[in-house]
Amino acid sequence: MVGGPEITDGRDGCVYLLNPGEPILIDTGAGWSVDKIIKNIEKLGFDPQALKTVLLTHCHIDHIGGVPEIKRRFGSRIHIHELDAPPVENGDPILTAANWYQTNFPPTRVDVKFNLPEEKLTFGEQKIICLHTPGHTTGSISIYLDRNGKRVLFGQDLHGPLLKEFGSNVEDYDRSTQKLLDLDADILCEGHFGIYKRKKEIRNYILSYRRQYGLE
Ligand SMILES: [Zn+2]
Ligand SMILES: [Zn+2]
Repeated sequence: MVGGPEITDGRDGCVYLLNPGEPILIDTGAGWSVDKIIKNIEKLGFDPQALKTVLLTHCHIDHIGGVPEIKRRFGSRIHIHELDAPPVENGDPILTAANWYQTNFPPTRVDVKFNLPEEKLTFGEQKIICLHTPGHTTGSISIYLDRNGKRVLFGQDLHGPLLKEFGSNVEDYDRSTQKLLDLDADILCEGHFGIYKRKKEIRNYILSYRRQYGLE
């Protein structure tokens, strides 16, 4: 974790760095803490100039706010699901939730738009899978990979909230969280609440939100 409410800025969603032979960022924080995130990347021994791939889990400002600055500094290619791309490219204040954070998000071009239920990215031997998991937003994705016999799931904002103004959909959320339960992940890296390292804990975590939305 190189960014998040506890380590960079209270407004940031968690930012994770993957290293399948090159640094990859999952989400970028809310935008105010880009310098701190970059320092954390350097502290881990990575050159931020090598940051060519950024995966965005969805279009909300607490996850995408750092994108314009990261793209400008490092020329990183921005990946997002095609259904969540328009709010980013249009700088939509409501669909990006920028209005909630009393800021604005400048319209920013994305480079890769996912459109499959499951997109596989390959870096050397490492496969990274981006699952389309709508619910919180229509273009939310969850990312997972298998490494050293462990399945690591990045499930940002799988807790919701489910709001009309975000285009949330409870039937989609039902199917998506079921898919995530079926993954039977060993480690869950969540978007606001940090990292869960026990299968049972992860299962209970997902079930508790399914319950909250009347699905259990
Ligand atoms: Zn969030
Ligand atoms: Zn969100």
